[in-house]
Amino acid sequence: MRAVTVTPGVANSLRLIDDQPEPAAEEGAILVEALAVGICGTDHEIISGEYGEAPPGADRLVIGHESLGRVLEDPTGTLQPGDLVAGIVRYPDPEPCPNCAVGEWDMCRNGLYTEHGIKALHGFARDRWRIQPRFAVGLDPALTKVGVLLEPTSVVAKAWDHIERIGHRAEWQPQTVLVTGAGPIGLLAALLATQRGLAVHVLDRATEGPKPELVAALGATYHTVPVNDLPFEPDVVVECTGAPTVVIDVMCKAAPTGIVCLAGVSSGGRSIDFDAGALNRALVLENNVVFGSVNANRRHWDLAAQSLTRADQGWLTSLITRRVPVAGYAEAYTAGPDDIKVVLDFAS
Ligand code: BGC
Repeated sequence: MRAVTVTPGVANSLRLIDDQPEPAAEEGAILVEALAVGICGTDHEIISGEYGEAPPGADRLVIGHESLGRVLEDPTGTLQPGDLVAGIVRYPDPEPCPNCAVGEWDMCRNGLYTEHGIKALHGFARDRWRIQPRFAVGLDPALTKVGVLLEPTSVVAKAWDHIERIGHRAEWQPQTVLVTGAGPIGLLAALLATQRGLAVHVLDRATEGPKPELVAALGATYHTVPVNDLPFEPDVVVECTGAPTVVIDVMCKAAPTGIVCLAGVSSGGRSIDFDAGALNRALVLENNVVFGSVNANRRHWDLAAQSLTRADQGWLTSLITRRVPVAGYAEAYTAGPDDIKVVLDFAS
């Protein structure tokens, strides 16, 4: 069968192969036919050889961690043939650490977790894949077109879950949210903020393309000014750019008791000059919290599925700016200027 693979650590080793073996029974009882695979920055890092790890004993890694498929068979009866399903990305570490032991593998403490399409587990960019029932998330049939957005939505569902848990350390009445970066993660973070009834502001560099309209369609306000020029102090910031100056600026900009969630991954290797003492002073004297957030556990995937079901389906559809048949995989993995989410289409 077909699969999109790389040799981890080797730049530009991306290939579509047609002799990938059928998924092994040990991969899980549920057999799934792939419909779509979403592409994100992590895939680009893997393709450039900076990230990613093949399964033990293998040279190549099947990539793809944003999945959508249709159940072909499930002898456990958890799902029915024909059901829409997405596969959870991260599996708990084998020891397991205290967090993985209770199903909070997104908070793994020893780094021995594995991730489909990223770290030591084959991904979902193949015609068929298998998944264990506890890592299979069933989706409403109405989400056939947009269910591939479940994985990035799970990431922001986790971010919001943790923002709220931190917020409840004291009286918690947030009103204003700033999301920096209007890529898929930023836009989905903004969607979840609007679902919470908050006043949402999204900041990005783009003055053209689909981003301003997508933000306006959420009822949120779009900004292209530097963070320091924004005329308000946000109660919550979800930082999705990973750009060093934006990261520092939002920490200083947060309102007293404000929470800054860092969800964007910086590439590293770039130094900037900033006054660490002033930053410390601003954070301490205003009881601010800055925290990092990655990945998601089962609870977040289920919350994300509910959020997608409640969202405007037309808006979600417009986040997917390109759908590329598998045969055109090279084009799919080449970033375009107006891309929001690019999807590799296994169904066509
Ligand atoms: C994925 C996460 C994963 C992270 C680090 C992200 O792109 O969405 O599930 O944990 O990469 O590998």
